[in-house]
Amino acid sequence: MNLARQIEQYLPQQLLELAKDISGQAAKQEQRIYLVGGVVRDLLLGYPNFDLDLVVEGDAVKLAQQVAETSKAKLLAHHRFGTAKLRYENFTLDLATARKETYDRPGALPAVTPGTLKDDLIRRDFSINAMAISLAANDYGELVDPHQGKNDLEHRLIRILHPRSFSDDATRILRGIRYEQRLGFELEAQTARLLKRDIPMLDTISGDRIRHELELIFKEKQPELVIRRLAALGVLPRISPSLKGDGWIAEKFDKARRLKKPNQLPSLYFCLLIYSFSERGIEQFLARLNISAKLSRAMRDTLRLKTKLALLDTSPLKPSEIYYLLREYEPLAIQANAIASESSTIHRSLQLFLTKLRYVRTALNGEELKRLGISAGPEMGRVLQILHKAKLDGEVRTRADEKKLALSLSRKL
Ligand code: ATP
Ligand code: MG
Repeated sequence: MNLARQIEQYLPQQLLELAKDISGQAAKQEQRIYLVGGVVRDLLLGYPNFDLDLVVEGDAVKLAQQVAETSKAKLLAHHRFGTAKLRYENFTLDLATARKETYDRPGALPAVTPGTLKDDLIRRDFSINAMAISLAANDYGELVDPHQGKNDLEHRLIRILHPRSFSDDATRILRGIRYEQRLGFELEAQTARLLKRDIPMLDTISGDRIRHELELIFKEKQPELVIRRLAALGVLPRISPSLKGDGWIAEKFDKARRLKKPNQLPSLYFCLLIYSFSERGIEQFLARLNISAKLSRAMRDTLRLKTKLALLDTSPLKPSEIYYLLREYEPLAIQANAIASESSTIHRSLQLFLTKLRYVRTALNGEELKRLGISAGPEMGRVLQILHKAKLDGEVRTRADEKKLALSLSRKL
């Protein structure tokens, strides 16, 4: 099957010209290059995907170095892995030397040696991700599909390439469900059976790799579908016994999307994911996934604030009272609680803090207060605090109001 027409139709002209140029340079060195992975899958599905992954039968680093010399691209080479990234103004191209992989033991990083395109495709996760398109002049656009990926795309199936796939690399369990839910596909029967059998192999995967897969799930349009399915299959408890993927998660993730920009969502999803956790549960989760200090702080704060929410639900609070209650918590934790809480009073107070109170500053600064005769030190600190509180509560609005209040305070001091 030839996909030259689809390539020309779907890929931006600029990218195509580049790919052709690289292919020409490869040919001079008797190397061949192919488009591989996600872009081929999405091309066949008619979905946009401009993350071009190229496989080189030969030496990707050498080829990328040459391309970089003759173009404006910035080169980032990893000699050890035989991979290179060419960064252009508007996009990047990933080049990888075709490789052969063997796994010494489950979950370990594979031993890698240079190989053919076929070697490179059989090491991949699923048949729909194991197709390539030739970019060489003599068979430009030809589909290379040794594992019947196109057939599986047509039948909407996620299929592994060999029975040891999930035990070699159990992150594929998470990847498989992510693709299944993103594309609305199904696990092929044997794949589903082996996936369930190999769930315990997740224990062989490092925290960093599990976390990375969760981050990828959180970049999906509807991560709650993936989480729900992982729960139904019994995958979640293997990562952490407290993890749930119920309707609550679905509702709150959806609410999060309506409030936050996409790049802030993954961290917020993490905070919502652990909302029902015990203190022990969260510590176990943070350690298992090797979560960064910053995100750990926000996740711990989320649970700490949860236990204080009732204080916000009592008699009407002054803005300054809300401020003093909330200022010690990470904004992300406050946001998570605003989404999680069922009380509209609490929600309003938390949002008021996030959108207004935390930004309130006095108009007068220390220098100006000195000119009003207030001396630096504890006295000044006290005046500034009173001014700030009055400003929070709307008792002073203008600069003049603040000046008046400061003068009356200084007389009393
Ligand atoms: P996405 O649209 O999610 O980016 P993708 O197919 O481009 O999908 P990547 O994570 O960018 O996925 O990986 C590129 C390719 O590398 C995949 O298509 C797959 O062939 C291969 N791959 C990635 N991770 C694994 C893995 N754990 N095991 C085997 N092959 C993998
Ligand atoms: Mg990709």
